Amino acid sequence: MSEPFWKTKTLAEMTEVEWESLCDGCGKCCVISLEDADTAELYLTDVACKLFDSGACQCGDYANRKKLVPDCVKLTPKNVPKLDWLPKTCGYRLVSEGRDLFWWHPLVSGNRETVHAAKASVRGKTRPEGRLKIPGLMKRITKWPQPAESPPPKRVAKVKTPPRRRPKPE
Ligand code: SF4
Ligand code: SF4
Repeated sequence: MSEPFWKTKTLAEMTEVEWESLCDGCGKCCVISLEDADTAELYLTDVACKLFDSGACQCGDYANRKKLVPDCVKLTPKNVPKLDWLPKTCGYRLVSEGRDLFWWHPLVSGNRETVHAAKASVRGKTRPEGRLKIPGLMKRITKWPQPAESPPPKRVAKVKTPPRRRPKPE
């Protein structure tokens, strides 16, 4: 079997469809992070961009995002290696660092739900930014869970065969 495209192509070599499919839908890049000015350490909050649809875990208007949120950063093959605020699990970051995608990435699992099942996403756990300023945001710093390292073991259903009925003697 041939290798999947994310293992053989660079970000710049991908088609538009391949590029878009590299997003696992975690939503973490739409969550506001704060940087410690002294240590440059990043802290994720549970406050998301005003356009983020928390229930769907995606941008509420992806096509018009730059118009509606001018400081939304459009990912490109050029800027991905420089964006240190992208989560370490981000599909673009992983490929740009020459690493493989995780088991829960929809391209690997074939299922868009596994990113949520693995606790790698922020679905349903964010609140909109509203008017929060830095002190308010600092109170919203959140320790997001570490995604599960491997898929849960498959449940094997036990089939009980009913006892055979003996035919009644005639
Ligand atoms: S962090 Fe990366 S993988 Fe996650 S939603 Fe953003 S672009 Fe997609
Ligand atoms: S505009 Fe959309 S893609 Fe950009 S940060 Fe906001 S929710 Fe995310």
